[in-house]
Amino acid sequence: MKVLIVEDDPISLKLLSGTLSQLNYDVVEAKNGVEAWQILQQRTIRLVITDWVMPEMDGITLTRLIRETEMAGYIYIIVLTGRQGIENIVDGLDAGADDYLIKPFDPKELSSRLHIGARILDLEQRLKGAYERMYELAMHDELTGLWNRRAFYTHAQSELERSERMVHALSILLLDIDHFKLVNDRYGHLVGDRALIMLAETITKNLRSYDRAGRWGGEEFIILLPETSLNEAVEIAERLRIQVMNARLPVHVEDQDNFDDELGIEISLGVATLNLGSAVSLDQLFDAADEMLYLAKRQGRNRVCYQR
Ligand code: GH3
Ligand code: MG
Ligand code: MG
Ligand code: MG
Repeated sequence: MKVLIVEDDPISLKLLSGTLSQLNYDVVEAKNGVEAWQILQQRTIRLVITDWVMPEMDGITLTRLIRETEMAGYIYIIVLTGRQGIENIVDGLDAGADDYLIKPFDPKELSSRLHIGARILDLEQRLKGAYERMYELAMHDELTGLWNRRAFYTHAQSELERSERMVHALSILLLDIDHFKLVNDRYGHLVGDRALIMLAETITKNLRSYDRAGRWGGEEFIILLPETSLNEAVEIAERLRIQVMNARLPVHVEDQDNFDDELGIEISLGVATLNLGSAVSLDQLFDAADEMLYLAKRQGRNRVCYQR
């Protein structure tokens, strides 16, 4: 683990640096607060031991600066100083130090204090990881891994605003599996789920890096195509429809005959495009795509409908 030592006195610095190296810390040195601050901007160091009295910037000012600044992660600060007395200790801790030690330090005690710091940093890391996992879960559909409705909506809103600002086209595809109820009825809900996953994979394979796909609900999916005209969107929709139609899911049917089968699904798609320079709300765009999807269903399914 990296430790930044901030110390202006060369002898103290050498002593501390030697002790920490022996304790297997990866030591980085700074001669004052200014130098330390520069190093902290450039490198990821989470553990700092700082002297108080130093030229240019003292350790307490450095501590305040670190606490007042939004950093990528928590920095654990130990003040190690010759300044004794309750008043000084309280001032140091109030400035934002996590610990306060008085020189000369005892190597064993310092080691224990550093372990406390490492424990706190590890805890913070794990909390952050848990938060990130929760965030991912909250944004994605559990079954297919695609964006969920809420996350998709939020993203689409900002994309719509961007498109209006830049006067770019923006298209959306709304798609729904045809007669999906029959799939569940014939093969069971678990196979139905696998079919949804297969569809999500086919969709993902067809996306460009800046496209976004979401699960709109049940067996309904939505795709956002930035900088895509109606003609291009219809082409993409048509290509997707054919790929979905050709994809096959191997399934085993448990009935009196007990046989292997291949399941295929078909989809209907509605396309809507934000026309250049026109102001349309996101809901209006969704409604337009929904209307076209409904038309595709009415016209016999397994097709793409769009409004000129
Ligand atoms: P249509 O062509 O008109 O869309 O017919 P449909 O049968 O697909 O439409 P309907 O709305 O009648 O039925 C949708 C079916 O989708 C019923 C529901 O059980 C199924 N479904 C929705 N979500 C899931 C899911 O997460 N897993 C599975 N296995 N089935 C789902
Ligand atoms: Mg000093
Ligand atoms: Mg359906
Ligand atoms: Mg549906």
